[in-house]
Amino acid sequence: MPDDLEAPGLPKSPTVKTSPDLLALLVFCAAAVPVAPAQSPGAGPPPRGGGPEPRERGGASLTVALPAAVQPAAQVLSALTPAQKTAGFSSNVRATVSGGQLVVTSDGLPNHETDHFPTSYNPNRILRQNYTFRIPLAPKFAEKPTPLPFGPIGVAINGIPFYNPYNREGRDAVMGPNAEIFDSCCGHPDQLGRYHYHKFPLCIRSPFTSAAGGHAALIGWAFDGFAIFGPNGENGQPPTDLDECNGHVDAVRGYHYHVTAKFPYVLGAYKGLVDMSNFPGSRVWGGPGR
Ligand SMILES: [Zn+2]
Ligand SMILES: [Zn+2]
Repeated sequence: MPDDLEAPGLPKSPTVKTSPDLLALLVFCAAAVPVAPAQSPGAGPPPRGGGPEPRERGGASLTVALPAAVQPAAQVLSALTPAQKTAGFSSNVRATVSGGQLVVTSDGLPNHETDHFPTSYNPNRILRQNYTFRIPLAPKFAEKPTPLPFGPIGVAINGIPFYNPYNREGRDAVMGPNAEIFDSCCGHPDQLGRYHYHKFPLCIRSPFTSAAGGHAALIGWAFDGFAIFGPNGENGQPPTDLDECNGHVDAVRGYHYHVTAKFPYVLGAYKGLVDMSNFPGSRVWGGPGR
């Protein structure tokens, strides 16, 4: 019998959590929206069979290195009060622990306000999904970083997937001449109707507190099991020691990722062994210049 971490939900609410991160959040979101050029139809990952040459990587083929201290998902969740769990996992999300994994199911519908897609800048609608994401509870470092695929690369605490930082041409999707356009919550839908984030989402209501002058709150998990936090490290400032994956280690959290104002915004690559069941079918793997 799995530990039931389900958090049957609160009514959907567009409320933005007020936290010390809020100003930073606003900066994160406001930066890209107005400067993005008109976008070609169908922003997001390429359809299957199109785009860059697929480069599949099986997690099993990578050697496991000894991990530093890690704080797996189950440990993080068990520290939450029932009220916090309820606040964090909205009604569209169910999280259970089973078989060494945090299993997150979600309908993919945002629990915050969005633009009324399709819009002048995005022809796609937000469609209900049937996500099952599997987050390893005991993340293990891979021998070397694994490139990120297109499509979901991790999941936010509200059940909305994170995507890699690239557009369909393999260029920076968030800033610069090829930037895509996001709504005020930093998300948009792809051709399959999957609403997603490429950068720190403004509207996530994390159940985890983000102390003033302290480390930012947890906002989700990558599919290698390492947690994703807001922008600030333990001194209340963005960390200066992030690796190419956008992660670092501290004594409390072990290895973890941070969102950043600059590329790659969420993850640069997977530091850990990825649960490949999160990538059904043929996947297109992204990368710089791809
Ligand atoms: Zn996108
Ligand atoms: Zn940190």
